[in-house]
Amino acid sequence: MADLTVCAFLTKVLCAHGGRMFLQDLRGHVELSEAKLRAVLRRAGPERFLLQEVELRDGPWDPEAEVAVGTGSGSGSGSGGGATACRVVAVSSARLCARYQRGECQACDQLHLCRRHMLGKCPHRDCWSTCALSHDIHTPINIQVLKNRGLFGLNEAQLRILLLQNDPCLFPEVCLLYNKGGDALYGYCNLKDQCNKFHVCKNFVRGECALKTCKRSHQLIHAATLKLLEDQELSASSVVNFQIISVYKHAKLHKMLEDKGRQGTVSGEVR
Ligand SMILES: [Zn+2]
Ligand SMILES: [Zn+2]
Ligand SMILES: [Zn+2]
Ligand SMILES: [Zn+2]
Repeated sequence: MADLTVCAFLTKVLCAHGGRMFLQDLRGHVELSEAKLRAVLRRAGPERFLLQEVELRDGPWDPEAEVAVGTGSGSGSGSGGGATACRVVAVSSARLCARYQRGECQACDQLHLCRRHMLGKCPHRDCWSTCALSHDIHTPINIQVLKNRGLFGLNEAQLRILLLQNDPCLFPEVCLLYNKGGDALYGYCNLKDQCNKFHVCKNFVRGECALKTCKRSHQLIHAATLKLLEDQELSASSVVNFQIISVYKHAKLHKMLEDKGRQGTVSGEVR
């Protein structure tokens, strides 16, 4: 179908622009009317493109506001009565193979790429023939995986953008002591505000937090984490997109669990 090619191209354009664009900007790259473009994006569904009507703001870029603007309840449309625009976020099910990183997998339906290279932190970056893991997105296995996920034509930089906002294994390190319970603010992390790991819910980052009212933070972007991102030279924009996608997935998971609960046995997962 022609849609496949168009969707691959739209993903490429989105990732060439940081993984998120306004619909009207995206439209500038394709020969489609706005209605047709919307139809293509809708048909592909939120597994590929997340569409959100958000309120436009003036002033310099503010990651916290960027995240907050799309998390309004339910309808997704702005509530302040200001001008709105449709933002499109590139979503993908493509992931790096975790077992490959440990040398335990030869071929599967996930990408076989060096995780550290995708983070731009492989010590073999200058002489990558010495790295035991592939830095090449165009190996036969990787080409096949990309094709199966409808991602052809992306270059390495574009694939990196896509993975950074979708693959939990590329998310900055989450503090496990914070996640252990204990103190509401710091968990069991003794480093508290000095900790150089993210104090956020690890299950939320994995798209698996089943708690409706979780004691751990689901807010990936705030002053402390922005500072960490800056210190570690990581992209705040990718984490903003990761948050947008995670919030959507969390709401979807909850709706699914609620529907299940209504049908029969309630699992009662409230800690
Ligand atoms: Zn594998
Ligand atoms: Zn490497
Ligand atoms: Zn910590
Ligand atoms: Zn949680």
